[in-house]
Amino acid sequence: MTTLTFDSLNPATGQVVGSHPKQSADAVREAVDRAEAAAAWWAGLGHAERKRRLLDYKAVITRHLRELAGLVHEETGKPVADATLEIVLAITHLDWAARNAPKVLGRRRVSAGMMGVNLAATLEYLPLGVVGVIGPWNYPIFTPMGSIAYALAAGNAVVFKPSELTPGIGVRMAELFAASVPEHPVFQTVTGLGETGAFLARDPRVKKIAFTGSTATAKRVMAACAENLTPIVAECGGKDAFIVDADADLKAAADACLWGAMSNAGQTCTGVERVYVVDAVYEPFMRELSERAASIKAGEHYGPITMPGQLDIIRRHIDDATKSGKAITGGPGSVRAPFVDPVIVADVPEDSPAVREETFGPTITVRRTRDAQEALELANASAYGLAGTIFSRNARRAMELARAMRTGMTAINSVISFAGVPALPFGGVGDSGFGRIHGADGLREFARPKAISRQRFALPGMNLTSFSRGADELERLIRLVTFLHGRRKR
Ligand code: NDP
Repeated sequence: MTTLTFDSLNPATGQVVGSHPKQSADAVREAVDRAEAAAAWWAGLGHAERKRRLLDYKAVITRHLRELAGLVHEETGKPVADATLEIVLAITHLDWAARNAPKVLGRRRVSAGMMGVNLAATLEYLPLGVVGVIGPWNYPIFTPMGSIAYALAAGNAVVFKPSELTPGIGVRMAELFAASVPEHPVFQTVTGLGETGAFLARDPRVKKIAFTGSTATAKRVMAACAENLTPIVAECGGKDAFIVDADADLKAAADACLWGAMSNAGQTCTGVERVYVVDAVYEPFMRELSERAASIKAGEHYGPITMPGQLDIIRRHIDDATKSGKAITGGPGSVRAPFVDPVIVADVPEDSPAVREETFGPTITVRRTRDAQEALELANASAYGLAGTIFSRNARRAMELARAMRTGMTAINSVISFAGVPALPFGGVGDSGFGRIHGADGLREFARPKAISRQRFALPGMNLTSFSRGADELERLIRLVTFLHGRRKR
C-alpha cells in the first residue's frame, strides 16, 4: 500500500520536523479548481488593492521572521542567522513587487507613430490566471518568493509545490498569506514528492510554471508542460566562476570568494564553484584564501548538506578533483556526513566533472590564468550560465569583463549582490535555464501583454484597410513612407 504522508527531517539530526500529505492528482486538481476561482477575484481587485494586501502580507511575514527562520533552520539545517538573511531578502522582493506592479504592468498610452497619427495605442499587462510554482529546498523562502511575490503582484493566483525536503515552510508561507487575504485561496501550497509537482505541471488550467531545481528535472517539467503549451520559466543552477584580476583587493576577494563558495554549505545556485586567478596575483591570493579557509568549519559557520543524495555527488567531485589536481584545503576526508568541511583544489583539468558539473557543495576548484581575458574565456566555456563574479579595482575593465561574461548576472567586487537588488532580473542562459524572476522582467514574466489600438478619427484620403482604397491613396502612402524612411543615414 502506498503511504499517504511523508516526513520532513532535520538534516543535521535526522529528527522528524513534520508530516505532510502526498497530494494526489485529484487533490492537485481541486487546488487548481479553487485557484481558478480565486484568480478571477484577485484579478478583479485591481492593482491598488492587491498592493495593499501584498504589503500587509509582507508585514505579516516580517512579524513572523523569527518563527520562519527557526523552521527554515529545522528543515534545511542552515544556521538561523542565514535563514534570517534569506527571509529578509524575500521581504525586500515582496515589497518591491507589490509597489512596482502598478507602474510596470498598469495601463499606459504608447506612441502610435507617424503612420498611426489617428490612433490611440494602449498597452497593459494582464494576469495569466493560475501560476504553478515548483520550488527548491536550498533557499526555501527566498527562491520561491522570487516567483510567488511577482506572480501575485501581477494579479495571478499561485499553487506552490515546495521541495519534499522543505514542505513545512511552504505550508506556513501560504497559511500566513491567508491572514492578509482571507476571502479566497489566492496562494495555496500542495505538498508531496516529485509526482505532485508533475500533476501541477500537467494541469491545462495552470497558465505558467515557475520551476527552480536541476536541469534534468526542468526538462521533464518542460515535457509535461509541452502537452498543453504551458510556458515555463526555468532556473536550473549553475557552475559560477569567480575571476580575480591583477589589480583586485586580494583580502576582500578571498573573503568574498570563501563566503560565496562555502556559505549555505555551497548549496547556492549562484554559489562560487570555479575560481580563476590571474598569474600576477595567484600566489598572494591563494595564501590569503587558504589561511582564511583553515578557520571555516561545517557545523559552525554553515550547516549540513540538506539532501542526503547530494553527498555522493560532492564525494565524487572531491575524489575526481584531488586525483588530478592539488588539494589546497581539505580533501576526501572533509566529508563527515551530513557535514562537509571546505575543500579547495587547484589545477583540476577543465574537462573534469568537478569543473563541469554543478557540485552544490562547499568545494571550489582554482586555476591560474595568464590574464583576465583567459579567465573570462574559461569562465564562459561552461554549459551553464547563471551568474559570476569579478574582482578588480579598475571599474571600467571590471564592467567590460562583466558584460562579456555569458551569464544572466555578474557581481563586481562583491558576491551574489544582484540577488538583493529587487529591480534586477534574475535568471540564466544555457543549461541554467531561461526566463527571468525579479524586477520588471520578473513581473512581466507572469503577465500577458494586451495591446489595443483605437482609431480616434478617420484619416481623409488615407483609408488603407478598405476595399474602396484607390490608387491615389496608395500613391500618397508611398510618398509618405519615402519621406519618413527613404533617406539614407550618413
Ligand atoms: P529537482 O530538480 O529534482 O527538484 C526541484 C523541484 O522539482 C522539487 O520541488 C521537486 O520535488 C520537483 N520535482 C521533481 N521531479 C518533478 C517532476 N517530474 N515534475 C515536477 N516537479 C518535480 O532537484 P533536487 O532537489 O533533487 O536536487 C537535485 C540537484 O538540483 C541538486 O543536486 C542541485 O545540483 C540542483 N538544484 C539546484 C537548485 C537551484 O537553485 N537552481 C535548487 C535545488 C537543487 P521533490 O523535492 O518533491 O522531488
